[in-house]
Amino acid sequence: MTAYRTLDDLGDLHGKVAMLRADLNVPMDENFHVTNTARIDRTVPTIKELMKRGAKVVVISHFGRPEGKGDMKNSLSHIVGDLQKSLGHKVVFVDDCIGPKVEEAVKNMKNDEILLLENLRFYNEEKKGDEAWAKELVKPADVYVSDAFSTAHRAHASMVAAVKERPAAFGLLMAEEVNALSKGLNDPKRPLMAIVGGSKVSTKLDLLNNLVKKVDKLVISGGMAHTFMKATGIDTVNEANSLVQMDMLDTAKEIMATAKANNCKIVLPLDVVVSKEFKPMAEHKTVDLEHIPAEGWSLLDVGDKTIATINAEMDGCSTLVWNGPLGVFEMKPFDNATNKVAEHAAELTAAGKLMSVAGGGDTVSALANAGVENKFSYISTAGGAFLEWMEGKELPGVAVLKK
Ligand code: AMP
Repeated sequence: MTAYRTLDDLGDLHGKVAMLRADLNVPMDENFHVTNTARIDRTVPTIKELMKRGAKVVVISHFGRPEGKGDMKNSLSHIVGDLQKSLGHKVVFVDDCIGPKVEEAVKNMKNDEILLLENLRFYNEEKKGDEAWAKELVKPADVYVSDAFSTAHRAHASMVAAVKERPAAFGLLMAEEVNALSKGLNDPKRPLMAIVGGSKVSTKLDLLNNLVKKVDKLVISGGMAHTFMKATGIDTVNEANSLVQMDMLDTAKEIMATAKANNCKIVLPLDVVVSKEFKPMAEHKTVDLEHIPAEGWSLLDVGDKTIATINAEMDGCSTLVWNGPLGVFEMKPFDNATNKVAEHAAELTAAGKLMSVAGGGDTVSALANAGVENKFSYISTAGGAFLEWMEGKELPGVAVLKK
C-alpha cells in the first residue's frame, strides 16, 4: 500500500502552530443553526490529538458557496458554538483567513483555546489553487494538517499548494478514510465485490469501467440496471416502465465485454418489484423478468430472488465496496432490497468475514435508512471524492501527501 504522511511524521509539536484544514461544511437552517453536527464532531479528535501533542491549533475550512467576501450567510462564525461544545475548549473566531488580523490572533492564543478562521472560499484564490495566496495562508503556521477528504478531489489552494509550503500530514480522519478506501479497492482482500446502484448509467460510466477491471463480482442494480437488462435481451424492459437509456445500450454491452475479458462476474436483477404509481406504499408486485408489464407499472426495486442471489454471492467475498441504492429507497417498501442486502453485509462484517466500505451521495442516507450506518467497516460521507476514488482517479489532496 502507498504510504502517506501522518501526524507521527510531524515530530514533536510542542509550542508549534498547527494549521488544520478541516471539513466544517455542515448543513444549516435559515436561522444559522447547524442541523447536523457530524462533520464538526468528526473533526474534534484530530484537534484534540494535535493539542495533546502540544500544538496550538488553527482550524480552517470552506463553507457553502459564498458569493465573495462578507457573505455573512456563509460565515463560519455560525458554527463556533457547536465546535466549542463538541471540543470542550474555547474557540476564538477570526473574521478573515489571511493577513495581519490572523497573525495577531495566533500570537495572542492561549494554550487551552483554538482559533477558527473565516471561510476559505471568501477568496477566489482558494478554488483557483493559487500558490501565492497559499503562502499567505500558511504564514502563521509551523506545520500543516490536511483532514478534509471530501475536498481531496479538488486541487484547491488549501488542499494542495498550502500542503507543499510546510511540513504536512494527514489528520486522523483523512488517514482513516484513505486507509479504509485503500483496503477496499487498491489493495483488497479477494474475492472483491462491488455493488453499484442509483438512477442512471450515464452518470456512472467511469466508475463502472474502472470497477469491471478491478473487482471479481459486480452487482448492478437500481435504475441503471434497466439499461444492462435491456442490453442482455430482456425485451420486457422499455422506456415506459423503466429508466432504460436506449442510447446507452452499446455502452452497457462494452462494459459487459470488458468485464468478461477481466474475469469479472456481473450480477443483474433476476426479478423486480413493479409499482402502479411513484409514491410510498403504492400498489406493487414482484415479477420475473419475462412477466414485467409493458406499461402502467414501473420498476422501482429488485425482488427476493435477486436479493438472495446478491447475498449468496457476497457470502464468498472478503471485501465489499458499495455505491448507490438498489431501488427507490426513499419510498417504502421500495427500500426493501437495499435494506436486506445492507443487513446481510452488516452481519458478515460483524462476524469478521467481510470488510465493507460504502459511500457517495445517496448511499449514506440509504444505508442509514437500513439502520446499518455504524455496522459497516467504513462509510464515507464524502460525495464527489468517494466517487472519483471509485473511478480510479488519483485525488490531488491525497497524492500530495504521499511519502
Ligand atoms: P444516484 O444519485 O445515481 O446514486 O441515484 C440515487 C437515486 O436513484 C435515488 O434517489 C433512488 O431513488 C434512485 N433509484 C434507484 N433505483 C431506482 C429505480 N429502479 N427507479 C428509479 N429511481 C431509482
